[in-house]
Amino acid sequence: MPEKMPKQEPAPQPTSEVNYPPVENGVDYLDSVADHLRFGQPSPRNLKYAVLHLQAAAELLLKARLQQEHWSLVVKDPGAAKRDRFEAGDFDSCTTTGAIARLKDIAGVTVDDKSAKSLAILSKWRNALQHYGLKAPAPAVETRAAQVLDFLLEFIHGELLPALPGAKASAVEEDLVAIGMKVRQIKTFIDTRQKRLDAELRDVTNRTVECPFCGSFALVVGQGPLSPSCRFCHTAWNEATFAAAAYAEVFSPDAEAALQTCPTCSNLALVVDWARVLHATELKHLCFACGEAFDHLAQCHGCLDMYVPSPNEDVHLCKDCLPARLEKF
Ligand SMILES: [Zn+2]
Ligand SMILES: [Zn+2]
Ligand SMILES: [Zn+2]
Repeated sequence: MPEKMPKQEPAPQPTSEVNYPPVENGVDYLDSVADHLRFGQPSPRNLKYAVLHLQAAAELLLKARLQQEHWSLVVKDPGAAKRDRFEAGDFDSCTTTGAIARLKDIAGVTVDDKSAKSLAILSKWRNALQHYGLKAPAPAVETRAAQVLDFLLEFIHGELLPALPGAKASAVEEDLVAIGMKVRQIKTFIDTRQKRLDAELRDVTNRTVECPFCGSFALVVGQGPLSPSCRFCHTAWNEATFAAAAYAEVFSPDAEAALQTCPTCSNLALVVDWARVLHATELKHLCFACGEAFDHLAQCHGCLDMYVPSPNEDVHLCKDCLPARLEKF
């Protein structure tokens, strides 16, 4: 008989069983996230656990709120949900993105766009981590994590605490204060970096856009067709086209329609309708290769490319297609 391996840890005593209800459990994960990030310049290992624990916290907390509405909303397909299977934990649950949509549509919870985006990106990173490791740059993880931490702390206050019994609520509230202080430490590092950047970006504000990776207004475009990069998180794209595509993917409702060929430089790097530059309030058309911004563009009915229409023009054809069409008559 082979000798039994010695146990690594003593078997849990019945009195010390793990029994963390979802909100307390979520708060415990948030505390761990803040600890992994609060001293600045986190190691890859700290970043890894920050992402894993933050995603775990987000899932627990969002679903705890859904469950207040109805338990079946936590299940991937609520129509086919079975109570006994739910109680046994034997079910597929909805995704983070699905949970956010249900919170908005069914529970009437407000989730601002920036937080929703950060939550979606976080969940992508978690999946990436499980399959091939995390490739996101540290400042991007810190910034997104800080946004999600902020959102979840607020979410617990507004949506989860009111439903907890008084004593439990005060215990959680105390924990939230402590975590809030750690989050402010993290944000101080981010703010310091952002301030340093502001001076650097002063002359290029009209072609600096929000980075689809870290969410900072620090992606400087318009440096030709090659290598735009974010000055904050240092994510670089090999070509302006890829940066424009990544931007359109995150910031426009229809990424394919939002990415077009630029009438000035002919690169497929024009973001139509959805580009917003640093300090601007309105959206515009901006080429990520040549950096030109356009007030008015129209789509040519001949070649389907975008072109700059002359005033009162109503033929819907670009300069290249117009002569060809006239020849036919
Ligand atoms: Zn960035
Ligand atoms: Zn261009
Ligand atoms: Zn045309």
